[in-house]
Amino acid sequence: MVPVSEIDQRLVGRLRERRLRVTPQRIVIHRALCAEAQHLTAEQVLLKVSDVLPGTSLPTVYSTLELLEGLGLVRRVGAGNGAVVFDSRVDPHAHTVCRRCGAIADLDGAAAPDDALARAGEDGFVPDHAQLVVWGLCRTCASAAAAVASAN
Ligand SMILES: [Zn+2]
Ligand SMILES: [Zn+2]
Repeated sequence: MVPVSEIDQRLVGRLRERRLRVTPQRIVIHRALCAEAQHLTAEQVLLKVSDVLPGTSLPTVYSTLELLEGLGLVRRVGAGNGAVVFDSRVDPHAHTVCRRCGAIADLDGAAAPDDALARAGEDGFVPDHAQLVVWGLCRTCASAAAAVASAN
């Protein structure tokens, strides 16, 4: 686990580079995402920070997350069903998404979709990054489904 001081330093460094203000909201929201390696929706971030920053609104959380994304500190992962999850891990990695409970997990060792990135660039599109998402059932949901199937 990365110490809080190091997490803060990284954010403050990036904000200063761009001459952006260091605000308590930016610090706390960034911390909420980076304290543990995790994938959080904006609503979940709001829940985590509302103790420390009462009165924070969802639009503020969204705009802060977008700012952090622009600074290269978080990445958004499309988890399907319109849900957007923010990931504090920014190195290229794949994910598994459970279609039943929505659990999202890192999938290490899977190749990054370099081919898709290269193709996207051919048409004048300027790609940032590509993500590989594997859909299915997580271990818990898969065994629950298996239990139901064998009961019938
Ligand atoms: Zn599941
Ligand atoms: Zn991830």
